[in-house]
Amino acid sequence: MNGKGSKQRVRWSKQFEDNYNNIFRKKKDKKMEKTIKDKCVMCGANTEYTKDTHIDFRTNYVEGAGQMCDDCHTKIY
Ligand SMILES: [Zn+2]
Repeated sequence: MNGKGSKQRVRWSKQFEDNYNNIFRKKKDKKMEKTIKDKCVMCGANTEYTKDTHIDFRTNYVEGAGQMCDDCHTKIY
């Protein structure tokens, strides 16, 4: 009986640790994503918009294609 109890406790604390790590990692990833800028879908150049920027506030964004830089957008349109 005692053995079972301690086993469960160990398993639970491990799960808790995993969850904690997952949450911590996710938060870290989110923070990193914020600083990553959207790249031009045509040439791969960095644009001035981050992934968080709403499409409505962007220029050179093509629905269905993605973010384009000034050069590629003017070349195509
Ligand atoms: Zn481009």
